[in-house]
Amino acid sequence: MSAAQRVVIIGWDCAPPQLVLDQWLSDMPNLKSLVDGGVAGRLRSCDPPITVPAWTCMMSSLNPGQLGFYGFRNRKPGSYDGWIANASAVKHPRVWDLLGLAGRRTCMINVPQTYPVKPVNGILVSSFLTPDTTCRYTYPDGLGAQLDTIADGYMIDVDGYRTGDKQWLLDEIYRMTDKRFKVSKALMQVEEWDFFMMVEMGPDRLGHGFWKYCDPAHPKYEAGNRFESAMYDYYLHLDEQLGEFIRLAGDNAAVLVVSDHGGKAMQGSFAMNDWLIEQGLLCLNQPIRERTRFTPEMVAWDRTTAWAWGGYYGHVFINVEGREPEGIVPQERYDEVREDLIARIEGIADDRGRVMANRVLRPEETYSGPHVKEAPDLMIYLDDLNWRVAQDVGNEALHTFDTEIGPDDSVHDYHGMIAGRVPGAKQLDLSGGAHLMDIAPTVLELLGEPIPRWMEGRSLL
Ligand SMILES: [Zn+2]
Repeated sequence: MSAAQRVVIIGWDCAPPQLVLDQWLSDMPNLKSLVDGGVAGRLRSCDPPITVPAWTCMMSSLNPGQLGFYGFRNRKPGSYDGWIANASAVKHPRVWDLLGLAGRRTCMINVPQTYPVKPVNGILVSSFLTPDTTCRYTYPDGLGAQLDTIADGYMIDVDGYRTGDKQWLLDEIYRMTDKRFKVSKALMQVEEWDFFMMVEMGPDRLGHGFWKYCDPAHPKYEAGNRFESAMYDYYLHLDEQLGEFIRLAGDNAAVLVVSDHGGKAMQGSFAMNDWLIEQGLLCLNQPIRERTRFTPEMVAWDRTTAWAWGGYYGHVFINVEGREPEGIVPQERYDEVREDLIARIEGIADDRGRVMANRVLRPEETYSGPHVKEAPDLMIYLDDLNWRVAQDVGNEALHTFDTEIGPDDSVHDYHGMIAGRVPGAKQLDLSGGAHLMDIAPTVLELLGEPIPRWMEGRSLL
């Protein structure tokens, strides 16, 4: 019999351990009380350390090679187009599905990749990737009207968060966060639950919008700016809310605070497709002289070896004969072409000519499972993720310091955080290093349910 009768998970998307745990913990009394009575440390994210697939890796305890998606946007096999991985892409049970089958009541609010909504044994409020609140974004269906009443209009995400209007953005993040906490606290009290999980996206939106104002190590930081304490203040606000959750959860509940990945200052953005053009590996139908969104239609595929998609990491695809519609690289030359690409990518330098700490992941070495072949041919972490990858073409220079999608000051980092306390004598043990795939088995053990053999993580108890 396990000691915990109930489990609460509070997700702070993108919460960086080097700030929250290493610098601010002593100013966050509620998080500190959890840590003093339990543990805290780093939680290794999946590869790539991105919201999708990270939360689903965490809640299913499976790697992307099993799940079949490697980011928000994935490639349709055998085409030059992409598809977006929402909840329809998740074919494996997540921990709440298993708990529901065991007769446990579950309550999930704003966990990524839960739209379109599927029935659960309890309630579910979906997250971003939900078109808007006029859609069926809750289970049961009528819950949305209740949320609007509780929160005076519920809010899923801050639309248009990559904006230069920072005061507006900050106000919107607080508005969203407070609505979510209002709704979550109300549901926590009126619903019956054994497992309660809520994820707040505010920390991620805040990090992307405000990092340069708060981090002296950011290349665009200016001392004494008016948003200097925006991140610190917001985390103190999160801590206040956490205190109320801890009180509402009661003494017999295990409480975990987790993030799906970390964040750090963005050093710059590298135009990978422009670089591939320079290398003679990508050909466009006609030269493009101003920054333009990359589309398959602009590519002369019969002269193209490789192309890239961007984001906080790069996806590189090889135009393989017999695999891509207009592939030209013979299958037997695939390895040679790919190794040549790896060597060239590893040699990419920053704007000052310093060779960066670039990491190139080969999918067959990184993932396992039936969907490994659907991964990009290579996944690129430029300068250990300090530089993002831009896919647009026609840039003035390969190195840029803004993004094609609006202002963004931070990139993702390999480690999120975990802090938690469980009732009873047995505590969480992070000494062997914790991975986000360890969370689902830990929840199952806490609730005295069996851990399926297919789960890749291990219980932290
Ligand atoms: Zn995230």
